[in-house]
Amino acid sequence: MTTNILFAAKAERWTTYEQPLTKALTEAGIAFDLRTEFAPDQVDYIVYAPNSDVQDFSPYTRLRAVLNLWAGVEDVVGNTTLTVPLTRMVDHGLTQGMIEWVMGHTLRYHLGIDGHMNGQDGMWRNVAPPLAQDRKVTVLGLGALGAAVAQALAGLGFDVSGWSRSAKDIDGILCLHGTEGLRSALSEAEIVVLLLPNTPATANTLNAQTLAQLPSGACIINPGRGPLIDDDALLAALDSGQIAHATLDVFRIEPLPAEHPYWAHPQVTVTPHIASETRASTASQVIAENIRRDLNGEPLLHIVDRFLGY
Ligand code: NDP
Repeated sequence: MTTNILFAAKAERWTTYEQPLTKALTEAGIAFDLRTEFAPDQVDYIVYAPNSDVQDFSPYTRLRAVLNLWAGVEDVVGNTTLTVPLTRMVDHGLTQGMIEWVMGHTLRYHLGIDGHMNGQDGMWRNVAPPLAQDRKVTVLGLGALGAAVAQALAGLGFDVSGWSRSAKDIDGILCLHGTEGLRSALSEAEIVVLLLPNTPATANTLNAQTLAQLPSGACIINPGRGPLIDDDALLAALDSGQIAHATLDVFRIEPLPAEHPYWAHPQVTVTPHIASETRASTASQVIAENIRRDLNGEPLLHIVDRFLGY
């Protein structure tokens, strides 16, 4: 029997995904019909990305699962018309991209690159940076991305701790959890990387109180989600010098409005939500493998906990 797969995303994504998804589904041995339109009661699976036209899942009466193309699921996880399993994207292309982006921005801070780029003034400031082993970095969120980033940083020699909701044991990383764990993770961190999902429990993880727990002059790197940071508290901490610099890839409102104070702030670098993209070729293989598993009665991978919201 043919499996009907609806690609529910903005039109331009179809151009990127039609070929790799077709290839991956074929290679997975699935007899499929992949389209951007179907009668809802004919659809078996929905490949989903934010801003799709599908907001009401109730007419999709034979739907077996919704497969989110992105790692973050905040746009769909609370949809009460969705009653079938929801999966999220865990993909090695996405992970590798995030490792590279975080590594680049961490090294910028660690090596004091800005000081040299902005200091071409004839002064010979020969203060060498410390070795990575003497630089404490903490990664908030130790999931698919956070754990890989933490391990890559540790691989380069950084002194890495990480924080998650549940207890973890990751080679080479000081793993912390709970409220006390967050305090401990922040108390010595010179560089903080946020890779938490956007859920009610993670909102404003960095706020006036937690920013004050960091050593003075710490730097923030946020490729997670905008709501993880209380923006007013961060701006105040930047102005007071408590936070030396922040590199922000994600915001409460995207695109970040031109008048937002982050754009003009001398201690902020804004990047336009490009830390790591879902890569069409590898992500298509993940989607195809999950459909194959489900059709063969095997458990889906990367199922979202609807209660926890990630
Ligand atoms: P995962 O779901 O694999 O990991 C989430 C991590 O956050 C887990 O370690 C989890 O803890 C922890 N966590 C969740 N809630 C809490 C909490 N209340 N307190 C403490 N820790 C918590 O997600 P990924 O690693 O795949 O992705 C993380 C986020 O990165 C995505 O949700 C998305 O927002 C963002 N992202 C950004 C991209 C960009 O380009 N800027 C690209 C891709 C993703 P536990 O392990 O105990 O469950």
